[in-house]
Amino acid sequence: MSLITIEKKVLEANNSIADENRSKFKEKGIFSINLISSPGSGKTSLVEQTIIHLKDKMKIAVITGDIQTNLDAERIDKFGVPVVQIITNGGCHLDASLVRNAYKEIENEDIELLIIENVGNLVCPSEYDLGENHKICVMSVTEGDDKPLKYPLIFHHSEAFVINKIDLIPYLKCSLDEMRNNAVKVNPKLKVFSTSCYSCEGMDEWTKWLFHQCRM
Ligand code: MG
Ligand code: ZN
Repeated sequence: MSLITIEKKVLEANNSIADENRSKFKEKGIFSINLISSPGSGKTSLVEQTIIHLKDKMKIAVITGDIQTNLDAERIDKFGVPVVQIITNGGCHLDASLVRNAYKEIENEDIELLIIENVGNLVCPSEYDLGENHKICVMSVTEGDDKPLKYPLIFHHSEAFVINKIDLIPYLKCSLDEMRNNAVKVNPKLKVFSTSCYSCEGMDEWTKWLFHQCRM
């Protein structure tokens, strides 16, 4: 019983910092997305491709979360956009205070789109508001088309669902239609994209939508 109370207090405290982040981002004209997925769905590759497609059109910055390494930040850094690595030292999700501290590192940058790459984990990141405009769920086709039904919470909270690594479909039993249908069963308002970071299939559609969201 006390455990439930503590967890509720933790989430309430997180929500109030998330609201502060949201006001700060709004004041600065920043649109932000929180990318949530299991490890290995291709979030960092999606971030790289998103930067390639949008960096001439808008100013982008990245905050990337990892349990142990700064490998993702090193990858992003090559594109010349401001990037902050959060190392959680075992923590399995980002919270609003981690994002607030990370943002301080780049608050003097001119940013229109802030991409927050969460720690690879499909469960608790969906409960932690970071102050982002949209949560985006990413899943690769290798994870199986039934997963939206097994992890419904993140689909409830997400604005869009990116089905990644579709170049692997010929080698798998996963049905793209089934995966999409299962996700939309959970959240009928979900905008669904199918992408490959290798062939770049679907990348124009995803980045055009994201660009439009930022400018709305
Ligand atoms: Mg990554
Ligand atoms: Zn967690």
